[in-house]
Amino acid sequence: MNNTYNIIVIGGGAAGFFAAINIAEQNPDLSVAILEKGKTGLQKVKISGGGRCNVTHAEFIPSELVKNYPRGEKELLGPFHTFMTGDTIAWFEERGVELKIEDDGRMFPVSNSSQTIIDCFLYEAKKHDVDILYNYNVKSLSNNDGVFSIETSEGNLKSDKVIIATGSNPKMWQVLKTLGHKIIEPVPSLFTFDIKDSRIKDIPGVVAKDVEIKVVNTNLYSEGPLLITHVGMSAPAILKLSAFGAVELAELDYNFKIEVNFIRLDFESCLEQLKILKQELAKKTVFNSAQFELPKRLWKQLVIASHINDNERWADINKDQLEALASQLTQAIFEVTGKSTFKEEFVTAGGVDLKDINFKTYESKLVPHLYFAGEVINVDAITGGFNFQNAWTGAYIVSKAIQLK
Ligand SMILES: Cc1cc2nc3c(=O)[nH]c(=O)nc-3n(C[C@H](O)[C@H](O)[C@H](O)COP(=O)(O)OP(=O)(O)OC[C@H]3O[C@@H](n4cnc5c(N)ncnc54)[C@H](O)[C@@H]3O)c2cc1C
Repeated sequence: MNNTYNIIVIGGGAAGFFAAINIAEQNPDLSVAILEKGKTGLQKVKISGGGRCNVTHAEFIPSELVKNYPRGEKELLGPFHTFMTGDTIAWFEERGVELKIEDDGRMFPVSNSSQTIIDCFLYEAKKHDVDILYNYNVKSLSNNDGVFSIETSEGNLKSDKVIIATGSNPKMWQVLKTLGHKIIEPVPSLFTFDIKDSRIKDIPGVVAKDVEIKVVNTNLYSEGPLLITHVGMSAPAILKLSAFGAVELAELDYNFKIEVNFIRLDFESCLEQLKILKQELAKKTVFNSAQFELPKRLWKQLVIASHINDNERWADINKDQLEALASQLTQAIFEVTGKSTFKEEFVTAGGVDLKDINFKTYESKLVPHLYFAGEVINVDAITGGFNFQNAWTGAYIVSKAIQLK
């Protein structure tokens, strides 16, 4: 083992391996090492996507792809023109890993196992002579006369260039602060909403296919499927709000109100339709005649909340009840009292301030020859394979930038 390398990558996760492999492959004459504090690397890859690793997403237009990044939308547009989803698919295919597309656009290895990705990375790293140093916890980093000194739990190392790929590790953000980097305070992104409300208490598992949600007194808005859970609400309509509202919702300490439009009609149009139903279904009970393609169990809860008894017929309900039902369907208010983790997939908003990074190379604007890749920077995405795509793109561009110098 050396203690001097041309290139040292700190962090043996998705971005770290991808960067190191590409650098070593493109520059066989350079010595490259990964320093990883754990006994093994790629731990998040291992557990990602429920053990299947959602590698990327079948979205092939850069201007559309960036819309999935609450933080990084503007900055990633250029990088995605250099390396994006199609390149990811090709990269893995060229190394024997075939990916498949699921109905919702998420892409996984055909094997349905994250181990396939790990095996690929370990094989490629070995093939290109990347030294992987496990149990190397990096404690500090300094640059003297163009040479980096890296203090680790296993001794000091030196290198010409350093790539930081330590994910959302707070200690490394502290180290970066000592080099003058601004760190945007981390807050959770991608979480579900805790809601205690009689309307949803007894109906976990119910899905409303297409809703609109607003966070009251903010500009936060989303649309899509909504899932009622044992503790509140989840599914894309909620997860998008949690990601795009990560900072604002943290400031509200996760106590806020949401307005749900279950049928995506405005109040007046809904009321008009209810009046027609009152005529057409006069003899039927409101309770048992679910409308607007809503699941029966949800419809029943909204009917009860509108003060309509389970035996009341459409013909018998009055104007106030009709208006109350229209209101429940189109502008139901729910009180959020906290958040829960989504399928253990925690993603952190925050990290190295994007203003301090040159996105043509992912090099620090403050410290020459210091580069970043992956979640360490203030970029994060909604669920669906976009977070890994950020890691692959940054890491690939770093490898190209290093080659150019
Ligand atoms: C349960 C779960 C499931 C997920 N599933 C998906 C998915 O299917 N698709 C998707 O796109 N995204 C998914 N994500 C998000 C995705 O895993 C991350 O965005 C991605 O792993 C970020 O890669 P990274 O290399 O930047 O960081 P990481 O993968 O976190 O790697 C950072 C590495 O750096 C090491 N390190 C940190 N500090 C030091 C130090 N001081 N010295 C040495 N080493 C250090 C860490 O031990 C770690 O190995 C998931 C996240 C979780 C938690």
